[in-house]
Amino acid sequence: MTLKDHLHLRGSVSHHDDDKDKDKDPKDPQAEPESTARKLFRRLKSGGRSSDEDSGDEGTSKQHRSDSEAELIIELPPAADFHVHLRDGSMMETVTPTIENGGVNLVYVMPNLVPPITEPSAALSYMSKLQALSPKTTFLATLYLHPSITPATIAEAAASGIVGVKSYPRGLTTNSDSGVLSYESFYPVFQAMSDHDIVLNLHGECPSTPAEDVAGIEDEDITILNAEAKFLPTLLSIHQKFPKLRIVLEHCTTAAAVEAVRACGPTVAGTITAHHLFLTIDNWADDPFCFCKPVAKLPADRAALLAAASSGDPKFFLGTDSAPHPKPAKQGRSGNNKTVAGVFTQPYAVQLVAEAFDKVGKADKETLEGFCCRFGREFYKVKEKGIEVEGKDKRTIVLMKGLGEKAIKEVGTGDGAVVPFRAGEEVWSLKWRD
Ligand SMILES: [Zn+2]
Repeated sequence: MTLKDHLHLRGSVSHHDDDKDKDKDPKDPQAEPESTARKLFRRLKSGGRSSDEDSGDEGTSKQHRSDSEAELIIELPPAADFHVHLRDGSMMETVTPTIENGGVNLVYVMPNLVPPITEPSAALSYMSKLQALSPKTTFLATLYLHPSITPATIAEAAASGIVGVKSYPRGLTTNSDSGVLSYESFYPVFQAMSDHDIVLNLHGECPSTPAEDVAGIEDEDITILNAEAKFLPTLLSIHQKFPKLRIVLEHCTTAAAVEAVRACGPTVAGTITAHHLFLTIDNWADDPFCFCKPVAKLPADRAALLAAASSGDPKFFLGTDSAPHPKPAKQGRSGNNKTVAGVFTQPYAVQLVAEAFDKVGKADKETLEGFCCRFGREFYKVKEKGIEVEGKDKRTIVLMKGLGEKAIKEVGTGDGAVVPFRAGEEVWSLKWRD
């Protein structure tokens, strides 16, 4: 891209738009009251600093360099994020508008609300609430694998345009009390999913050895460190029984998971998050904002994830597992005084991937486009199934390295505020181009 080109960038996420906003007198009684979502969007656009904040606030945008000073510029089609948690209520209102900030226009939405989404009609009404909060985003619905789901539910889901069913092992992560204890009992449902071409999304971890099992009576020696590795035989056995069933091993965190996905046929793929391209055990051991399930593992695992994500292998694509929790809950200041699992990356989804790929010399258009934009869409058949109309969204996203932007410290306000991954640290910049 030439300098002239990018001086002409016009995006919905541009600093120039901020200047336009400032022209409106906020005290003008005729002026439209600004919604919280709109304020948040404006704040994120300005690199974490809203115009109504004191300019002395560690001046993130003051440190911004102009776009022409970017060390690297990469233009891509809008990305797709095949694993997001958008919650409901006020948290949903806080985080849903940040999807666009991360360069994404299609999201695959997890169903672990309270109660979980187990009926097609509930999934569709949830999608319409989300749509109102981010009108340009395509939302793909899922159901929560639960004993109440039957082959008839799957037929209804397929007819309603629901794309997948998510399986959570019981008790393992946020709102998984209704999760799965044994997979065999779901085989008739898996057969129906295979017949109706509905995707099975696996949270691939085994529950830890119970704390009371000190004598090792049922000891399988499972902790959060090997919970994913212990699950991989289950992935292989489901794949062998249902070879046509499309399966995604969600948020792979180990070299072993990457190998297992590769060892399966083309109906099995794996998502990789942005934060697992950065983290290892040491990061979350003393920082609740880096703690998620599955936990980040060893440096060799991180290297294997980065290699797989940037390999151009279409079996691996972006699913951020962006999982917002209020700051007090992450800090163990609510409920049972423990932290909760989840890392919030939504506003910087593609920026983080680009930064990670850059570390291994893979921040190029083709590699990023495959992992962030293309492979997931192909696996989920979004074009074939008419979920997205080709060419309808003509926008592109422009990634810029080295402009001095810093990740916003909090999204939302008060006890509902969410702290993004690497808050306050330098991030790549992203703009939308019309
Ligand atoms: Zn998740």
